[in-house]
Amino acid sequence: MKFTCADCPSKACEDLEYGKMPNEASCITKKVDQEWFKSLYGEEDLKIAHNAAKVEGDGYCRWTRVEETMAFAHNMGYKKIGIGFCTGFSREAATFAKILRSNGFEVEAASCKCGSVTKDFIDIHKDHYANKKRDIEVMCNPAGQAEYLSAQGCDLLVVVGLCVGHDTLFIKHSKVPVTVLTGKDRALAHNPVGALYLADSYLKRVYTFIKDNFGDEE
Ligand code: SF4
Repeated sequence: MKFTCADCPSKACEDLEYGKMPNEASCITKKVDQEWFKSLYGEEDLKIAHNAAKVEGDGYCRWTRVEETMAFAHNMGYKKIGIGFCTGFSREAATFAKILRSNGFEVEAASCKCGSVTKDFIDIHKDHYANKKRDIEVMCNPAGQAEYLSAQGCDLLVVVGLCVGHDTLFIKHSKVPVTVLTGKDRALAHNPVGALYLADSYLKRVYTFIKDNFGDEE
């Protein structure tokens, strides 16, 4: 097993405690020149990083993620927010839009089913439909959501409840910065880290999920 930051007991990089960091072969802080990290941040990245850190500090443990999202957008000077939501989150998207408007933001929104492209386009047929009673099922269209919202002049796109993989395409296709209000987890009331909290008790199954569900084949 390759040692990674996830396995590091000290997390000493947080407090600049070089003596407590693992050896050079394992520790990114020791292995990689700090100047290289700094060189990654262009002008917009520095502005985003500055304002993200400002929001983190200013609302620490007080502001909800909804409030942090608005504070970040406000600090960045973003005026128009694009909501990319799952139709299963229609109520939440409507409430979020209302809150954003009430705080002076202009809102655009695109539902995941926008465009009404059917699933045969992605070679998914009835046996793999989410609702097997349907004869035809519309695919989620995350590339379309992100490209449409970007083309409307949104300054920031916010993911609201998109599925795993659909969020991947949404982020890939966005032409403007993206943040995530929430992901989707149908089994855990959209609280995916619940599986991590319960991994060593009621949800031990997660450790053998691939083998149990997909067999042993490579
Ligand atoms: S960078 Fe080094 S000290 Fe920080 S978590 Fe990774 S291994 Fe640990």
